[in-house]
Amino acid sequence: MATVYTARQPRVGSAGGFGCGRRVPGASLPGERMGTRKKVHAFVRVKPTDDFAHEMIRYGDDKRSIDIHLKKDIRRGVVNNQQIDWSFKLDGVLHDASQDLVYETVAKDVVSQALNGYNGTIMCYGQTGAGKTYTMTGATENYKHRGILPRALQQVFRMIEERPTHAITVRVSYLEIYNESLFDLLSTLPYVGPSVTPMTIVENPQGVFIKGLSVHLTSQEEDAFSLLFEGETNRIIASHTMNKNSSRSHCIFTIYLEAHSRTLSEEKYITSKINLVDLAGSERLGKSGAIIALGDQKRDHIPFRQCKLTHALKDSLGGNCNMVLVTNIYGEAAQLEETLSSLRFASRMKLVTTEPAINEKYDAERMVKNLEKELALLKQELAIHDSLTNRTFVTYEAMDEIQIAEINSQVRRYLEGTLDEIDIINLRQIKEVFNQFRVVLSQQEQEVESTLRRKYTLIDRNDFAAISAVQKAGLVDVDGHLVGEPEGQNFGLGVAPFSTKPGKKAKSKKTFKEPLRPDTPPSKPVAFEEFKNERGSEINRIFKENKSILNERRKRASETTQRINAIKREIDVTKEALDFQKSLREKQGEYENKGLMIIDEEEFLLILKLKDLKKQYRSEYQDLRDLRAEIQYCQHLVDQCRHRLLMEFDIWYNESFVIPEDMQMALKPGGSIRPGMVPVNRIVSLGEDDQDKFSQLQQRVLPEGPDSISFYNAKVKTEQKHNYLKTMMGLQQAHRK
Ligand code: ADP
Ligand code: MG
Repeated sequence: MATVYTARQPRVGSAGGFGCGRRVPGASLPGERMGTRKKVHAFVRVKPTDDFAHEMIRYGDDKRSIDIHLKKDIRRGVVNNQQIDWSFKLDGVLHDASQDLVYETVAKDVVSQALNGYNGTIMCYGQTGAGKTYTMTGATENYKHRGILPRALQQVFRMIEERPTHAITVRVSYLEIYNESLFDLLSTLPYVGPSVTPMTIVENPQGVFIKGLSVHLTSQEEDAFSLLFEGETNRIIASHTMNKNSSRSHCIFTIYLEAHSRTLSEEKYITSKINLVDLAGSERLGKSGAIIALGDQKRDHIPFRQCKLTHALKDSLGGNCNMVLVTNIYGEAAQLEETLSSLRFASRMKLVTTEPAINEKYDAERMVKNLEKELALLKQELAIHDSLTNRTFVTYEAMDEIQIAEINSQVRRYLEGTLDEIDIINLRQIKEVFNQFRVVLSQQEQEVESTLRRKYTLIDRNDFAAISAVQKAGLVDVDGHLVGEPEGQNFGLGVAPFSTKPGKKAKSKKTFKEPLRPDTPPSKPVAFEEFKNERGSEINRIFKENKSILNERRKRASETTQRINAIKREIDVTKEALDFQKSLREKQGEYENKGLMIIDEEEFLLILKLKDLKKQYRSEYQDLRDLRAEIQYCQHLVDQCRHRLLMEFDIWYNESFVIPEDMQMALKPGGSIRPGMVPVNRIVSLGEDDQDKFSQLQQRVLPEGPDSISFYNAKVKTEQKHNYLKTMMGLQQAHRK
């Protein structure tokens, strides 16, 4: 049975009594509530003797306290301080107590708690010969005098019988520690010594265990007893063959319990162990320092690992287990020094607090079985649901390769725009669709890389076929002009792959905005077209609006200039006519005679006309000046808008089709323009003035081939310059008049 998790819960109420949430009545130790901190229970058992020191050892009426009084003559030889009276208060003093009573008092509750999942430890401590082994093992030849150990085994099997709701297994081990060596008293091999059965103490989250120690499954009381006796026999044989002094060895008999509810839905199970420890004679316990340390409240750290005994018992000493100490003492005056020392130890141990906790584990096999059941049930539910909603065609099984390939194909067609929608069938399929999106996109990224390396080549400006392909691919600039450098040597632009054609992209663009860009980054001019329809649409609209205002003002300015020129010509003509009239009059000498200037009607009309023309001229001229100011302002706005548009586009382009730097380097054939590196200001290389005329010219010119562009461009520029000069000269002449 696999164990996946162990919880040592400090709270008991949550899952007492084999995970049933109930505790066995009377299971707690006397006067204690489980789950709260409690003390180690310390008892004293006095070995019966005919020579009991009545005048030195007195028991309290409460049967818990014991007073020691030293006679002076003894004190001189035995104790080296002045104190002669001691009083010890313990959990019970067992004098002339039967094995039966000792078990009832000391062990019964610890054992029943073990069946509820609490570890328990019962230790016998005391001077050699004081009755530790008698208390723990008892007389093996006399049933009545059997000790705690066989009685504990009996109780365990009796309780198992009383608890048919649980399947409980019992295992036992018997460990001897002698001179810091570990011996397996239940080794199936003939006893030969530690070198053959090397054992180590191992700690893991589940607790401490001894690697190499044999642990025996026992299904009935009798088997358990056999093991116990075998262990006792081995103990005696070993002490002879190894020439051991048995008073120096610690013996730990451990009962391991594991309880599973017979209710299969119960996934928790309980484990526990009961350690029954027969310690070496206390007169030699110097090495078991930690046992002493447990009784010393001032010590924060208990050196468990310092000796094998405390290390092996680490998870069963104090801490979260029920712990009982039986101190075996002599009742005779001659042993009073050791008796006193043992009682001091007992009263120190009584101060040690423990917090017993259940060892709960989860039965992984059972959990899997329960989950399988749950899954089967839910599948049935789903089948019913599907039949009610006419979804019987839906399957919920894992997809095979063919189904996954079909989804991959759907995703590809969807991205290409040849598939409108991917129908949703079930969650598994949706997850696979997303997965395939990732697969397709990463494939396309790789394709882009290799495509870029292969496809971007320079196009000669005289290669009309290539240029026409460029045009087809939509390489047009901000105003819809073909992009290029009229003065340059090469177009230096990449041929955009056909998959980036705006028409093809339209579908996927609508459905998936930013994350699903076409597989290959389009060239900047192509992308610019897209940008103008997308994120740049608003700024582009403003740009166009400003430009149309500018063009309209320019047109008006040009019309005004023409009118001014016409007026100027009229003025000139009128002036000539007037001069002629004047010269006629001079010949006649009329106004010399009269001393008056006589103006005939024709001349008068001419003067009026001239005056009117000059007025018109000034008004028109003023209009022109206003228009020019407006044009200048509009030009400024248009420039700003264009700048914004290109800047935003650059950001957008980098965001959408950024090409890694290392790739740009790889694409660097001798410093020509490369995709992703086309300087924005070179996309729109024509001046605004030129573009107005140029846009009209283009329709006319393009059939002749792009070669003619620079020709017409130059022509327009020259014409404009000429017109401008003419206008300026005309205006200057008019001013001088
Ligand atoms: P320890 O293990 O502490 O060295 P033992 O348990 O071996 O001491 O006891 C020594 C002797 O005293 C044994 O022969 C044992 O039968 C006897 N003995 C000890 N305690 C009792 C008791 N309470 N009643 C009868 N005999 C006892
Ligand atoms: Mg002994």
